[in-house]
Amino acid sequence: MPKLRVVENNITRPIPFKRPAPPIPVGPTCGLCGGEADYEVFGQAHCRKHMLEAIDSETYVEVRKIGGYDDAS
Ligand SMILES: [Zn+2]
Repeated sequence: MPKLRVVENNITRPIPFKRPAPPIPVGPTCGLCGGEADYEVFGQAHCRKHMLEAIDSETYVEVRKIGGYDDAS
């Protein structure tokens, strides 16, 4: 009986999938988590999650949305 060996078929061999790197935020980044910032809380850029965390208080919180047609930031 002939000795059998495993023959690898290059056509059926799966191509290893490389996961693409997460997109790097281009705009201002959150001062707490480094994510993409959409809001400005007291002049500091923050993401939506940390903006909501900041306004969840009883004192006055100055918040504005970054971006828009007339935004110079
Ligand atoms: Zn954040």
